[in-house]
Amino acid sequence: MRETAFAEERRLMTESQIRARGVRDPAVLAAMAKVPRHMFVPEGLRHQAYADEPLPIGEGQTISQPYIVAYMTEALALKGGERVLEVGTGSGYQTAVLAEVAGTVFTIEIVEKLALRARAALDALGYSNVHYRIGDGAAGWADEAPFDAITVTAAAGRMPEKLEAQLAVGGRMIVPVGTDAQELVLVRRGKTGIRRDSLLAVRFVPLV
Ligand code: SAH
Repeated sequence: MRETAFAEERRLMTESQIRARGVRDPAVLAAMAKVPRHMFVPEGLRHQAYADEPLPIGEGQTISQPYIVAYMTEALALKGGERVLEVGTGSGYQTAVLAEVAGTVFTIEIVEKLALRARAALDALGYSNVHYRIGDGAAGWADEAPFDAITVTAAAGRMPEKLEAQLAVGGRMIVPVGTDAQELVLVRRGKTGIRRDSLLAVRFVPLV
């Protein structure tokens, strides 16, 4: 398929899967219409890259459904310039969306093969505002903390308090919590405390 055909599929995806379901943040919509999702899926699945579903990326992992990526990114309320931590680089697709909307992205992936592949894809697309780490993201990235926003793309059995502790005052974290039944939880750190709200029932692969 040619790039123009992919671009048209991406425009349709953004309208019918994302805007139609209520995502309104113009920066998020622009990023979804811009980032070439087909460059983050295995070659044999490129024709399905803009479908309304997660897809396998190897090593038993998946690239998240486009709507979920947009929804989670919007929930972080990014205005531009923020420092964002992403736990679970996976394909690197959400990393690219975050790199479009925020200032700097720090991304951690536990499976080396996926981390290297994601980095190659992001480098090829020219994303220079991304920092990479291979390892367990459950403990966050202490040297670079605090973060204005944190996104976790695999489900935590319970609220990861080490990550909450790396949120800046005024910062937001979006994290799927639970084992069988999971919900997407929005954590907001204020001057005096932490507020947690459940937003949506979801199904993510578990954190390893
Ligand atoms: N947003 C990604 C989702 C990838 S799925 C995308 O759209 O491609 C979740 C990813 O989290 C997987 O790649 C998995 O290997 C990774 N992961 C699981 N547990 C982890 C941990 N403890 N630390 C870092 N990454 C982890």
